[in-house]
Amino acid sequence: MTLAGRFAPSPSGELHVGNLRTAMLAWLFARSTGRTFLLRVEDLDRARAGAEAVQLRDLAAIGVDWDGAVVRQTDRGTLYEEAIGRLQSAGLTYECFCTRREIQEAPSAPHAPQGAYPGTCRNLDAAELEYKRSTRPAAIRLRASVSEYTVRDALHGSYTGAVDDFVLRRNDGVTAYNLAVVVDDAEQGIDQVVRGDDLLPSTPRQAYLASLLNIPVPEYAHVPLVVNSDGVRLAKRDGAVTLADLDAAGMPVGEVRDRLLASLGLPPGTLDQALAAFNPAGVPTAAWVWEGVVNKR
Ligand code: GLU
Repeated sequence: MTLAGRFAPSPSGELHVGNLRTAMLAWLFARSTGRTFLLRVEDLDRARAGAEAVQLRDLAAIGVDWDGAVVRQTDRGTLYEEAIGRLQSAGLTYECFCTRREIQEAPSAPHAPQGAYPGTCRNLDAAELEYKRSTRPAAIRLRASVSEYTVRDALHGSYTGAVDDFVLRRNDGVTAYNLAVVVDDAEQGIDQVVRGDDLLPSTPRQAYLASLLNIPVPEYAHVPLVVNSDGVRLAKRDGAVTLADLDAAGMPVGEVRDRLLASLGLPPGTLDQALAAFNPAGVPTAAWVWEGVVNKR
């Protein structure tokens, strides 16, 4: 199978310059290593009508192109259920009836990492299970046999993070992100995952799940986020941070692209031109401060 990288946005709103910079980096990592580059829309949750079309338009405008058709997670339920079925048959799942509140209020298990699921439903007997099933629909959790897992990351080196009995399918029937991402990356032949470093803490869970499903763990590069001048992760409230708003404020897309390239130490111009100068080992590891834009119009 061809080796591939990808960008996997959630269509919950417009992409801002931080998201676009991550997409650019994912594209540069993939293209500079001869990989194909795929685009996957992660629309299982929080999808907003019309957001996907705007995101795809903005990616194309900044010079990020992709191979083949865009894949949408909402079309892939059968694949996720097949994977959950395999885990179920191997005794690696259990039903969980806890509400968020019950989880917060439960005493945590000894030595469990902070925020880990306390294991309330892990060993229900038949009568308890029958009773709980009559009260509310179940989520499906992984029966993890480790409490941490180590991954290798191109920017962070060896990274060890917590693994708990995380949710695979929520109690409203929606597939959980951690399961979908692992199944999708494997099924799409993706062996290089470049994404924002806010997702690094989830990565040990995903790599552990991949190992249980006999899926090869991809190469990871978790790239730094873009922050505002207060050092806080960039968001819509930081003013003109989307291509449309920046254009309206007098910064056309070519200038935004060149600023993003400069933040990576790359020359201005098209992404194809930048490719020649791109060195994956030279990607800055610190968050990049977006200085904002003075309205020129
Ligand atoms: N859909 C996720 C997001 O937009 C990214 C998931 C991933 O790259 O694995 O934050």
